[in-house]
Amino acid sequence: MNLLHQEERRSFAMLTEKNKQHFKKWLSQRLNESLEKTRDTLIDIRDLKDKLSNHVDEASHASAMGFALRIRDREAKLIRKIREALGRLEQGTFGICEECGEEIPLRRLRARPVTTLCIECKEEQEAEERTKAEEVLIADY
Ligand SMILES: [Zn+2]
Repeated sequence: MNLLHQEERRSFAMLTEKNKQHFKKWLSQRLNESLEKTRDTLIDIRDLKDKLSNHVDEASHASAMGFALRIRDREAKLIRKIREALGRLEQGTFGICEECGEEIPLRRLRARPVTTLCIECKEEQEAEERTKAEEVLIADY
């Protein structure tokens, strides 16, 4: 994280080898953190299951378990995204928008290293999703 922040003051027109190394390091660290968190959550879930089987305050354990499961799902999604981003770094497609093929600005990559879209395409996608959601709502009536 600190390395990325130091670089922030300078601006690069393109993703340099140095930048790629920073992202690789950051993504690898984040991946390890997520994997650890997932392991911890799995242990929590196992503990909770034991407690649940002892019928101790079932409702609160059940909601705690739901919470643990949600964290695990979120981490699993993030892990997949980080692995994909690392794959793109290997293939040399990291930092290139999936939609338009333009370079994703470094500032955006730093804020969200797992992103696959530039801001314009992301906004377009979100607008489309909103439209779809609205269409679904209308279709319901
Ligand atoms: Zn784009």
